[in-house]
Amino acid sequence: MECSAYRETLDLAPAIESDDPYFEEALKHAGNCEVCHDKLAKRLEIERSIKLTMDTMCHVPENLVSSILHMTREIKPERPKRRLWLATAASFILIITLSTSGWSYWDNYKREEAMEKLCVLSIRNHELSHTPEFLSDNKSHISNWLSVRLSRLVRFPEVIGIDKVIGASRSALGTHIVSAVQFEIDGKRSSLYSYYPDQFGIQNAVTPPKFEMGYSVAVWNEKGVGYSLVSEAKVEKVKMLFNSSFWN
Ligand SMILES: [Zn+2]
Repeated sequence: MECSAYRETLDLAPAIESDDPYFEEALKHAGNCEVCHDKLAKRLEIERSIKLTMDTMCHVPENLVSSILHMTREIKPERPKRRLWLATAASFILIITLSTSGWSYWDNYKREEAMEKLCVLSIRNHELSHTPEFLSDNKSHISNWLSVRLSRLVRFPEVIGIDKVIGASRSALGTHIVSAVQFEIDGKRSSLYSYYPDQFGIQNAVTPPKFEMGYSVAVWNEKGVGYSLVSEAKVEKVKMLFNSSFWN
């Protein structure tokens, strides 16, 4: 196959080697293709250096801002240009220090925002798709159908007991094609989406079942696969499907 067929997958690959079956074929290609291998290695290196820069930025000494502010106060008024420059420098350092000390807050905020976006996309998708592409009440038939259509292994989550399966579809959440399974909870229409958490920037993030925009919504990860669930059933009914220890 051509390099372009693997481009998108390689752009998501977390490392040169991975146990994740999703990346298996693409990484195998990169192993035999110098162009793709170099491109992947370069991206991973850039990401690593960005992360390193962020880590060092976090170690700006606490007293730096006050010492810079103190310095600017000592500048004599007859040198307005220099004073202005130092004041500007001080405010930059202040901004950098504030933003790095607030980094974890920002990181959390971004993740919450990404999570919120995923919930809304899932709800919209649930509202728009009423008829599954593939009708079946057999879970393994559905897994096979989705795996073949999406060229990756699609499995049912283990922490939730899904019984009344109706069918499956390929669905778009934002710009990503994901798998969608339609099923019933307490006789109410429900959708389960599965994707790779990296696609939405929400690694390890979970949202226990909650009420949102008129639906019950939950988001979680299992073995590297992300799931979002939208149901017209009550939040309590959705909660009951999960292994009781899962949210603790
Ligand atoms: Zn290639």
